[in-house]
Amino acid sequence: MKVTVDEDKCCGAGSCVLAAPDVFDQRDEDGVVVLLDAEPAEHLHAAVREAAGVCPASAIALGEGA
Ligand code: SF4
Repeated sequence: MKVTVDEDKCCGAGSCVLAAPDVFDQRDEDGVVVLLDAEPAEHLHAAVREAAGVCPASAIALGEGA
């Protein structure tokens, strides 16, 4: 699984951080998403899919066998 985030779309809602804190964080200044792990391990995939699903801005894209 490859994860990409679109910082321009991100509205800083933080839902992704709640869903998958090992993979997503937020910048202190403005709350914009920070991708911690672009190729998360298998056991994190479900959480990452949930994070992408709950993102109100559709700023999280999953690729390659996601
Ligand atoms: S859930 Fe989406 S909009 Fe909210 S911080 Fe994460 S990437 Fe940004």
